[in-house]
Amino acid sequence: MNKNRRPGGKENSMKDSIKALRELEKRLYAYQYAMAVADYDSETVAPPESSAGRAEAMEVLSRAYFDQLVSADTAALLQRAAADAETEQEKAEVRELQRSYDEIGKIPAEEYAAFTKLTQESMPAWGKAKRGNDFASFAPYLEKIVESLRAQAHYFAPDRDPYEVWLDRYEHGLTIAQCDTFFAALRETIVPLLAAIKERGSAIRTDFLYQNWPIEQQRKLSKKIMEVWGLDPDHCVLGETEHPFTSGFWHGDVRITTHYMPQDMFSNLYSVAHEGGHALYELNVDPKYDYTTLAGGATTGLHESQSRLFENYVGRSRAFIHYLYPTLLELFPQQLNGVTEEEIYRAVNRAEPSLIRTEADELTYSLHIMVRYELEKALMQGTLTVADLPAAWNAKYKEYLGVDVPDDTHGCLQDIHWAMGDMGYFPSYALGSAYSAQAVDDLRKTMDLDAQWAEGNMQPLKDALRSRVWQHGRAKEPQWLVQSLCGGAFDAAHYTNYLKNKYTELYGL
Ligand SMILES: [Zn+2]
Repeated sequence: MNKNRRPGGKENSMKDSIKALRELEKRLYAYQYAMAVADYDSETVAPPESSAGRAEAMEVLSRAYFDQLVSADTAALLQRAAADAETEQEKAEVRELQRSYDEIGKIPAEEYAAFTKLTQESMPAWGKAKRGNDFASFAPYLEKIVESLRAQAHYFAPDRDPYEVWLDRYEHGLTIAQCDTFFAALRETIVPLLAAIKERGSAIRTDFLYQNWPIEQQRKLSKKIMEVWGLDPDHCVLGETEHPFTSGFWHGDVRITTHYMPQDMFSNLYSVAHEGGHALYELNVDPKYDYTTLAGGATTGLHESQSRLFENYVGRSRAFIHYLYPTLLELFPQQLNGVTEEEIYRAVNRAEPSLIRTEADELTYSLHIMVRYELEKALMQGTLTVADLPAAWNAKYKEYLGVDVPDDTHGCLQDIHWAMGDMGYFPSYALGSAYSAQAVDDLRKTMDLDAQWAEGNMQPLKDALRSRVWQHGRAKEPQWLVQSLCGGAFDAAHYTNYLKNKYTELYGL
């Protein structure tokens, strides 16, 4: 019995609007599905000279997607559905679709089209500038991108700081004040820790890391990690790409990729561990959200929290390396001859300040993110000009990581994100690590995670994460999911304490 039952005819029309909403969501899903498959295909098995035809198809598909989403019909439907939605799921579907609609619908069509064109041009310009160490040739594109992002933020929320509008876009509910506090805590912890390691840290054996690691054996290791994570090959496959990534088409079909390096076995090991964490999230969203806007992981920060949990907190733990050690010895008997479990643990956890974010270790990674956060915020707020970016970049790398940047190719041109028009995206990488540190602390109160990981038993961890986060997809607001994951209000101290304890012990500080 529904006590709030509305009179007669109203109930039929209510069902109609929700039904129409679901049909729209399914159409949007189908376009996204087609584009995701084409994109995955292009990154994995498509022949090199196949892009022209794909670009034509993608243009039609993406235009069809946006025409479906942003139209007077959709606006009217959202209004009706908002009034009619009764269940929690229906309300969440309206909320998420309205958000997608507003993100595009509030921007004038010409501005949106011009920005799409701009990013299509700026990406190859960035690639060329990076290869030729020629920041000046990329600068005009970056200036226009910053200008357009500021304008778009203004259309979306005229009274808000433009950078915060974009932070909120990627991690809904996140503010500049929260980010400032978060990164200040990281700076105060990591910078002195790194200095202490450099000054008096005990040496770590690394001679066995770079040698010949047969790819065939590395493939067997990938399979082993996927088995331990419990990634069902009927629903998740591993491909090979230049840069590893995860693509979830729907909860029954998730693709992950890795990159095999003949000289570095651990790179693939931790790529599979990381992407496998992303995949587990996508595979475990409640099927009742299939083909709706509520399917899939909620935010990039939450997604990174899951991938980093499996990569770092599980994959780099003493317990898990103890479990994996016999497999490693079996697959690589010569390479690991005379190398102990503890030596592997120490080597895969070593901290070394470096120039390149994607090669950074667990400790210094967040410093790379902090540099980008501070610089993109300054660019968006107008306190830093694009022309001054390289010098500002180099100064921060010196200050935080203690390294000299030799050229812009290894400096401010290294990442594609800004060329793609993404500003406000980077902080979610560091936040993800911090969310998972707190989650692990909270889970340890009632679970002996180390004992489970030492046996290769991921089930209790997965059950907990499924119930706290995975199953909900986007049905809950990101801030609710973060609290649910962490077992309370987010507090960066869990992450900074984790790093302090781990590296103090590792380096005998
Ligand atoms: Zn990731």
